[in-house]
Amino acid sequence: MPFSAYLELMEKLSPGGIRLLAVSKTKSVEEIRTLYELGQRDFGENYVQELVEKQKNLPDDVRWHFIGHLQTNKVKNITPFIYMIQSVDRLKLLLEIDKQAEKSQRTINCLLQIHIAREETKFGLDEDELKSLLDALISFREAGKAGRVRIAGCMGMASLTDNKEIIHQEFTRLHAIFEMIKKTLPSDHVDTLSMGMSSDYQIAAACGTTMVRIGSLLFGPRTSANK
Ligand SMILES: *Cc1c(COP(=O)(O)O)cnc(C)c1O
Repeated sequence: MPFSAYLELMEKLSPGGIRLLAVSKTKSVEEIRTLYELGQRDFGENYVQELVEKQKNLPDDVRWHFIGHLQTNKVKNITPFIYMIQSVDRLKLLLEIDKQAEKSQRTINCLLQIHIAREETKFGLDEDELKSLLDALISFREAGKAGRVRIAGCMGMASLTDNKEIIHQEFTRLHAIFEMIKKTLPSDHVDTLSMGMSSDYQIAAACGTTMVRIGSLLFGPRTSANK
């Protein structure tokens, strides 16, 4: 069980004030509860159905983060309870979150997912798309709309490589984008830079991350191939 891995990780992250998102995809409610009992509250999932099932069976003060590709038609299934959606990669999705959040009378924390890796397969906005999304959002806000989404910051995944230099460059770029978003949306109180996973969180820490998303290092390897 993840006791010692959790405590060791917290010891490394706490001095820098880095928050830990425990990525619990494919893991059981019992495994999540074990970490919950140690004090962990932030958990990340990447499938809507799996998340909805787990949410029903765990305490209400768990902060659930959605980190997978999110279809617009599934947004309504998670808006009644989700704490943060880290994978906002298009305006249409952001506006749907806003609409559904309004129905639940909630404000939902969102991170803009940025494409920083070399692989084309990964999701996320490139810098031009990010700029147009931010422009559009500012126009909506000026018209009194899109007030139920708070842009808390950005999220990104580095290339799948052993080359630390490349990962360092990509994280440095994401950090600069985070600073740009902060300046662009001062009233959103942008404070979350979600970068770093089991294999690269130490590089992320050196590049100014505020939140790492850790799965396998905490829970052990996942067996399922597509996760
Ligand atoms: C699965 C996943 C993680 C965690 O990956 P590990 O390598 O197990 O730490 C982090 N972020 C996202 C977006 C994921 O899908």
